Amino acid sequence: MTEYEIVVIPGDGIGPEVVDAALAVLKECETRYGLKLNYTFRDFSADLYRRTGRKITAADMDEIGKADAVLFGAMGLPDVRGPEGLELGAQVEMRAHYGLFSSLRPVRLFPGVESPVKAKNVDMLVIRETSEGMFAGLADKHEPSDESASDRMTITRATCEKLFDVAFSQARARRKRGTPGHVTLLHKSNALRSNVLMEKVFDEIAAKNDDIGSAKFYIDAGSMYMVTDPERYDVVVTENIFGDIVSEIAAGLVGGLGVAPSADVSLTHGVFQPSHGSAPDIAGKGIANPTAMILSAAMMLEWLGERRGDDRCAKVAQNIQSAIESALATGPRARDLGGTAGTQEVVDAVISALPA
Ligand code: NAD
Repeated sequence: MTEYEIVVIPGDGIGPEVVDAALAVLKECETRYGLKLNYTFRDFSADLYRRTGRKITAADMDEIGKADAVLFGAMGLPDVRGPEGLELGAQVEMRAHYGLFSSLRPVRLFPGVESPVKAKNVDMLVIRETSEGMFAGLADKHEPSDESASDRMTITRATCEKLFDVAFSQARARRKRGTPGHVTLLHKSNALRSNVLMEKVFDEIAAKNDDIGSAKFYIDAGSMYMVTDPERYDVVVTENIFGDIVSEIAAGLVGGLGVAPSADVSLTHGVFQPSHGSAPDIAGKGIANPTAMILSAAMMLEWLGERRGDDRCAKVAQNIQSAIESALATGPRARDLGGTAGTQEVVDAVISALPA
């Protein structure tokens, strides 16, 4: 049996609560399906920084990067900031360190969950570029000023080519599960030079993948369609800050952040975390919805299974996804979905819905 080394970073706020929930489901899967996961826990959090001044270093990330995957809760507390006034975020540093250029954010309206818009079949994958775009200048030299401050958007051909290859391959893989096989680029090439290059490379890669349909919208109109006609989207790909925003609009269509998983991946590394943050407003109350974190753990198994050619691992990922689907359909339902269940009740329901 293949064993996997997993680094677990619980983080801040509800991070540790939802990580515990996902680990409980994974533990049951290890017993039931013969999976073997070895965990190493690392504490990187805004809380640790506040208490000790310690934050993640390049040496930490080199060490962590030797594992097969990273399972990450959430990090950041709005009142804990570094010298430049920015929040701490090991997830952002890991994206840069490992070159995690694509954040895969599947968004699906599960049976039993109501959408705030008129849509029945929301099933899309938002791919947010996560190594450059509007976050490209984070490491730039910065002169503190009260009069002006800048960020920069940089788009490179090399990253676009990898990103769009991922988008078209994902559309092709999803098509086997019944989706149309279509990629939409959301961009702003009418006003941003960087996005002119992004659109040009998209056209080139789309032409090489003509078995998959493609479309392009400006980010402004594309965001409106996200709300007025979300069923038009299959795979949606966009730059860093647009993807940050659009992926959360998409999450709002299917029940909110509590059910929105994500996987930040490169061709070699993967960090698996829910799309949500540390939710300080509900931390410590036992009411966080763990669904997004559990689905992120399933994405980790799917990714490991694919990379290692491990069918058992891929099958366990499917079993977790189908258990989540059943638990959402029958309840109990977490509070963010209009129910009264706490975190543990949701975990218990998912575990009892795991296929034999
Ligand atoms: P957030 O995602 O933490 O919370 C937004 C809203 O969604 C809150 O009302 C929260 O209660 C709710 N929510 C989020 N996850 C939920 C869950 N699992 N179950 C039920 N409700 C849930 O965003 P925020 O409040 O803007 O940010 C809080 C902190 O998290 C900030 O410090 C921010 O920088 C950080 N953050 C971290 C990440 C990350 O670790 N990847 C992502 C986004 C924000």
